[in-house]
Amino acid sequence: MSVPYADLHLQYQTIKADIDAAIAAVIRDSAFIRGTYVDAFESAFAAAIDAKHCVSCANGTDALFIAMAALGVKEGDEVITTAHSWISTSAMITHAGGTVVFCDTDANTFTIDPAAVENAITPRTVGIIPVHLYGQSADMDAIMAIAQKHQLWVIEDCAQAHLARYKDQQVGTFGNAATYSFYPGKNLGAMGDAGAVVTNDDDLAMRMAMLGRHGGLTKHQHKIEGINSRLDGLQAAILSAKLPHLQQWTRARQKAAAVYNAGLNQVKDLEIPHVAFDRTHVYHLYTIQHPHRDELAKYLSANGVQTAINYPIALPFLEAYSRFGHRPEQFPNAHRQQSNILSLPMFAEITADQQELVIDLIHHAFE
Ligand SMILES: *Cc1c(COP(=O)(O)O)cnc(C)c1O
Repeated sequence: MSVPYADLHLQYQTIKADIDAAIAAVIRDSAFIRGTYVDAFESAFAAAIDAKHCVSCANGTDALFIAMAALGVKEGDEVITTAHSWISTSAMITHAGGTVVFCDTDANTFTIDPAAVENAITPRTVGIIPVHLYGQSADMDAIMAIAQKHQLWVIEDCAQAHLARYKDQQVGTFGNAATYSFYPGKNLGAMGDAGAVVTNDDDLAMRMAMLGRHGGLTKHQHKIEGINSRLDGLQAAILSAKLPHLQQWTRARQKAAAVYNAGLNQVKDLEIPHVAFDRTHVYHLYTIQHPHRDELAKYLSANGVQTAINYPIALPFLEAYSRFGHRPEQFPNAHRQQSNILSLPMFAEITADQQELVIDLIHHAFE
């Protein structure tokens, strides 16, 4: 038996008829760009995550750019984000014209440390981008309090956190806007690139929609200079077919996480994910920490179990940010986490046998 890190084809098999029909309908209607399938997905997704507006776009990276451009980020503006994320989060700050300011993660949840945020604020700070990494919410009460105190906007990067909750409220509904990715491997994934920004702010929604569609919503009426970042009809129809299953898939991930927790919580030197008491984790990734992470990954791989490291180099230490000259002691938690983290196979369809194999192998790895 082998255990893949994720299995997209297995998910497709469970809803093949719906997906095939959705694709056929878009082709029949030649509804390739925008159109009714995109409108329908935007409404359904906004409803699913309790937001007023959903503005779809080409991917989760563009979503971040569009949100910041609509909020008016300009040269000299400082935007605070976490040291531990996918590079889109910080790279789009630069592309929107701002200056990236990294903050360390907290010791436990892999999300941005509110105390570090408070320390990083200067007169030039305009906004904060917390990332709900791996599927667990950042500490939104603390972050929103800081934002209010200093009059900053907040964009939640929800790319890994569809349906996650903080104190019983959905992530993506705390800040001014929230960005989603529907990259195939995300908890809700398209069959190609796709993304969205959600917001409760009518005016912001309008500006974001214009920005992604050449600066206007009516043909030849370009009110501003936008970009081309549209969701295509095929992806929208596929996402609409998948969305009704998202809750059940999320529960399956949570059940699989509970099985790992029970099987791994006594393993010497191994830390299972810490979930804060007021948060509902949706386990985009199930990430453990172990001081001999690399040996463990090698042993698992040799025995047919795929793992991944998300991410082996924290953002401040990437070559892309060498201009800042950041040192490990500035981001002690992110620096420790980058060498200890290991993500185990996690997908809604993972079987009890597969999980048992992973757990047994980890118990035997250091014998
Ligand atoms: C996937 C991801 C993105 C980017 O989404 P794409 O759709 O791949 O552009 C941004 N932020 C985080 C945290 C992600 O995991």
